[in-house]
Amino acid sequence: MSFVVRCMDCGHAAPYFPSSINCPRCNSQWREAEYEYDSLADSFLRQIAGRPFDLWRYRELLPIRNPNPSLSLGEGGSPLIRAVNLGMMLGLPNLFIKDERQGPTASFKDRQAAVTIAALKEAGITEMVAASTGNVAISYSAYAARAGIKLWAFVTSLVPAVKMREIALYGSQVVKVTASYDQAKKLAAEFARQRNLYLDMGARTITSIEAMKTIAFEISEQVTSLLGPPANAAHQWRTPDWYIQAISGGMGPIGVYKGFRELRQMGLVDRIPAIAPIQADGCAPMVTSWKKGLEEAEPVLSPRTHIETLATGDPGRAYTLLRKYVNETHGVFESATDEETYRAMHVLAKMEGLSAEPAAAVAFAGLFKLVRAGTIKPTDVVVVNCTGHTMPAEPYILGDNWSRNVVLPSRAEDKPQEGLLAALTSVAPDRFHRVVIVDDSPESRRLIRRILQSQGNFQIIEAADGKSGLETIQRELPDLIILDLMMPEMDGFAVLDALKAKPETAEIPVIVASAKELTPEEKSRLEGQIQSLMQKGDFLNDEFLDEVRSLIH
Ligand SMILES: *Cc1c(COP(=O)(O)O)cnc(C)c1O
Ligand SMILES: [Zn+2]
Repeated sequence: MSFVVRCMDCGHAAPYFPSSINCPRCNSQWREAEYEYDSLADSFLRQIAGRPFDLWRYRELLPIRNPNPSLSLGEGGSPLIRAVNLGMMLGLPNLFIKDERQGPTASFKDRQAAVTIAALKEAGITEMVAASTGNVAISYSAYAARAGIKLWAFVTSLVPAVKMREIALYGSQVVKVTASYDQAKKLAAEFARQRNLYLDMGARTITSIEAMKTIAFEISEQVTSLLGPPANAAHQWRTPDWYIQAISGGMGPIGVYKGFRELRQMGLVDRIPAIAPIQADGCAPMVTSWKKGLEEAEPVLSPRTHIETLATGDPGRAYTLLRKYVNETHGVFESATDEETYRAMHVLAKMEGLSAEPAAAVAFAGLFKLVRAGTIKPTDVVVVNCTGHTMPAEPYILGDNWSRNVVLPSRAEDKPQEGLLAALTSVAPDRFHRVVIVDDSPESRRLIRRILQSQGNFQIIEAADGKSGLETIQRELPDLIILDLMMPEMDGFAVLDALKAKPETAEIPVIVASAKELTPEEKSRLEGQIQSLMQKGDFLNDEFLDEVRSLIH
């Protein structure tokens, strides 16, 4: 495989060597790997066919001469999961999650570590330095352990202790720095300079950008197999409309952009998705600078967020580069508060079964905002990178009452069964409020059921059409009815008329959940008949549950 490293400033091309970080002509540190795209275009698809779905599938486009399988921990090849429930809540049927939690150390930094450590091993380098807010150091440590490379990990004192211990567990030297992440980076750089050690350069590291671009390759392959080939038969692969990721230094989206650009250069795709990098509000130098139209980022000197993973206050030139990519793809920069993030994290877990760490959840909080603002359209194909695993953040999210405790009497010999039953009744009351859901769409019923289940105890009875819904309501006399309007044969309006005609059902509160925008005539038909009207796609607002609670108590 042949490639060069080309300087972004003067255009000079040089051979790649991990420890030579400056352009030999102009001294710039901003350089990119460049491959022979024209000749690759003919052979790439044939070469990758039949290979396992992992990062090394694309080895012709990686800066490693001889990939060493014995260093691999199974990096890359993460699933692209369709987020059916979240998509329905947001009115976004083509919402996908690139589940990077499934990497060997549970974050997308595993791609970076796998490729970088492979390059260092190939170059005979045995000691390295990296500053980290946790995950980079964890990933590097795991791969360094396998490769016999010593890592000096400079972490800020705000990095959670569990993460620090994991770094140490792999045999790396943890250097805890009580200062900002930007200062820890400076200290690490000085340490590496004095000892003449290899230093991880963040977004300027060739191997890191090259590793991140495999996310774009995988997404294109996966979106194509899920949604079918693109309309234009000149191209083999499809791309989504949006790529959304939580960022700190911005290395991920810079690499992902490059990946899509290379696919376009080889003619495999016709366009690059809109890039949407999301930052934490308390440390959002790129977002504020972009919104002000600045070409260079104004640094944030003291980040104010609990989400330490994303605390790059001074992005430097990575911003200028990313700004160019965001503007060119008609993307946006957005930010989210810690509170919005914790809520998004909880929604993601209870709606899709994905427990992400707060840093990863920032992307979802950003997604919710962009959908509400109308920036992302209902027809768009959206991929959100779920960058990392759960961290112990439950105290922020769940409050105090998330567990029910069962205490068995110590002298259970007497009447063991009775003691157990008595203990269990304290777990839940005997009778739950009963809710009938009348909706012809099984997905809608499942979504509403899920929302109710995740927030309390209800006995939920479903009916799939108006007629059986009416019968169910008349039989069960529930505490609440959630009613769809558009159903074949007997529609929601007819069900309402029948309910109001009988005294035993006339007073049961009704929430109408409708998939479509109602006409003024339809709205006036509902007036006085129902307690509340919810638009599907609006369910993310806590209003729905507040409404349910207020009607039932
Ligand atoms: C590193 C990291 C990020 C930010 O990535 P960049 O692309 O380098 O800004 C986001 N989420 C998690 C979980 C991370 O570990
Ligand atoms: Zn140069």
